[in-house]
Amino acid sequence: LPEIALAGRSNVGKSSFINKLINRKALARTSSKPGKTQTLNFYIINEAFHFVDVPGYGYAKVSKTEREAWGRMLETYFTQRENLKAAVLLVDLRHQPTADDIRMYEFLKHHNIPVIVVATKLDKLKKAQVAKNVKLVKQTLNLDPNDQLIPFSAETAQGKEEAWRVLESYL
Ligand code: GDP
Repeated sequence: LPEIALAGRSNVGKSSFINKLINRKALARTSSKPGKTQTLNFYIINEAFHFVDVPGYGYAKVSKTEREAWGRMLETYFTQRENLKAAVLLVDLRHQPTADDIRMYEFLKHHNIPVIVVATKLDKLKKAQVAKNVKLVKQTLNLDPNDQLIPFSAETAQGKEEAWRVLESYL
């Protein structure tokens, strides 16, 4: 099956994103604890593709050794990935992307992977703030004009149809 990688710092809303896309209340549980940062989880979506969950990053307490092992695992996967079509990078639309978000985006671009930025928690923003924050996210990541940004809410399902459309365009 084709694969779509799914990356984002811990607690950004990865499981909520997957669950909303496939209309489940609580199937996916992507949050991994520090110490469980070395496995890639595969989720079969509608028997059409795999989401390859890249363990959440941004833990303050992960040791250097663990961080390095995590980096090696990602390198291995992203250099061997025969079926990988694109990556979804989840960010929180309320905030400027973190240094870890920027590093992850640059890592994916370094490997020539198309990235779909899903900017989630849209429902927590006032309407007037949305365009401004979208611009901030794009600027901070230095978003490639070929990459798309989709404002998304797992609460209201805003952005869900667009997310499906864009995902399908890569499958
Ligand atoms: P993960 O660690 O990346 O898998 O994050 P979760 O999906 O577990 O979400 C972390 C927290 O953010 C949970 O309390 C979710 O209910 C909340 N959350 C996730 N997405 C949204 C969203 O779009 N809107 C709102 N309001 N809360 C969200």
